[in-house]
Amino acid sequence: MKKRTFLKMSSAVLTGAVLSPLAGCKKSEPTTAKAERLKNWAGNLEYSTENVTYPESVEQVQAFVRKTGKLRTLGTRHCFNKIADSPHQLLSTKNLDKVIALDTAKNTVTVEAGIRYGTLGEYLQGKGYALHNLASLPHISVAGSCATATHGSGVRNGNLASAVSAIEFVTAAGEVVTLSKEKDGEQFLGAVVGLGGLGVVTKVMLEIQPAYQVRQDVYENLPFGELEKNFEAIMSSGYSVSLFSNWQKNNVSEVWVKSRVTGGKPLAIKPELYGAKLAKRNLHPIAELASENCTEQMGVPGPWHERLPHFRMNFTPSSGKELQAEYFVPFSDAFAALKVINSMGDKWAADLMISEIRTIAADNLWMSTCYKRPSVAIHFTWKQHPDSVMKLLPVIEEQLAPFGARPHWGKLFTIPPAQLRSRYERFADFQQLLRQYDPKGKFRNEFLDLNLF
Ligand SMILES: Cc1cc2nc3c(=O)[nH]c(=O)nc-3n(C[C@H](O)[C@H](O)[C@H](O)COP(=O)(O)OP(=O)(O)OC[C@H]3O[C@@H](n4cnc5c(N)ncnc54)[C@H](O)[C@@H]3O)c2cc1C
Repeated sequence: MKKRTFLKMSSAVLTGAVLSPLAGCKKSEPTTAKAERLKNWAGNLEYSTENVTYPESVEQVQAFVRKTGKLRTLGTRHCFNKIADSPHQLLSTKNLDKVIALDTAKNTVTVEAGIRYGTLGEYLQGKGYALHNLASLPHISVAGSCATATHGSGVRNGNLASAVSAIEFVTAAGEVVTLSKEKDGEQFLGAVVGLGGLGVVTKVMLEIQPAYQVRQDVYENLPFGELEKNFEAIMSSGYSVSLFSNWQKNNVSEVWVKSRVTGGKPLAIKPELYGAKLAKRNLHPIAELASENCTEQMGVPGPWHERLPHFRMNFTPSSGKELQAEYFVPFSDAFAALKVINSMGDKWAADLMISEIRTIAADNLWMSTCYKRPSVAIHFTWKQHPDSVMKLLPVIEEQLAPFGARPHWGKLFTIPPAQLRSRYERFADFQQLLRQYDPKGKFRNEFLDLNLF
């Protein structure tokens, strides 16, 4: 698809869904802040420059990219590593946060890159539509999430990037390029999980479906041994299933089962799931913590966007005193990988808050952690003990190496670059794609140089 065709196509099918299209595009200069340095959500990382610009239109992005030497794009700053960092210049998509078009004939929605999933969810629900899945929290930007292959759970659900049907981005030369699933085949598949390296994504078109209701039922204390024979059945017991454990009691402390409610019919929810008992109160993934920030449970049906995330949109955590790491292994190796992590519980005891296990369907996106591989994601929420955590990660990585574990692009990891690259079949093609749109490395930073070049 040629430049601009995407936008024209979107506006041609506009259904009155526009909130505020291209707000501020008359201004020629974006707002630029040069004050205190920004930190990421968790506060473990201060970005390496105080130069941050906040464009409000594609034209402003183009003009800024043309006149700037090196820069990185920022979404909602939820990554734990330096993938979004730059010592030179940051471009924030905070003000690119509008819905552009809802196409009810093609079942797509087109949004500006910086819109948060929670805001988009409210909008879509209001129009009778839904996305296929969401991550654990709704505060993250659409383009920033897709750039790192952010995911939710569900044996049949691809990650969030798998719902992308077109992207528009501004290249290093300041040109607007659009790639679509329908027309641009391989290039599109390479660009969607772009790690911020192709340019500034300005618009994203996502596949949608009719709105649906979801109920959440939580079970407590699943004996770890049940996973050996019943892992697939347990993870398939709902539309999206998450297991939580701190690996201390040879059990899964909580199983969160999110089920789609069809036709308003009540589901026959079992009081027991492979030995785990149905909870009688709302729970936080860490059972000792208060659950008021968590989405409604106890089988109360509600709209998809208020049940698929674990945490509520209107709750903004005062501090994110945590660190995260996550590794993706093939679904077929799930139990073997979990067994080794469980057997080393003592090692994690002092630093781990909780682990979460989720499943993700395979996709064809070159740099996706689930590329051609139905996957199980083993996630670790650590206490903010950076020194100990950075010593524990290589231990986990060594244990998971036989399974070809791929780390989450937005979380902490220490896998040597050569090993990392060997786990991505299309790695060389992706390098080539980056060189095509950014020949001089305008969008490269230390993280990309180290891991990709
Ligand atoms: C509390 C918490 C819970 C989380 N839960 C989950 C979860 O359930 N599942 C999961 O998979 N991950 C999860 N994450 C990780 C998070 O989803 C990812 O780090 C995601 O990338 C965050 O999006 P962001 O907009 O904040 O990205 P940022 O950190 O701002 O940026 C991420 C990357 O995207 C690039 N980027 C951002 N916007 C653009 C753009 N417009 N154009 C080009 N590049 C861009 C940046 O350059 C950077 O490389 C969680 C993180 C936190 C803090």
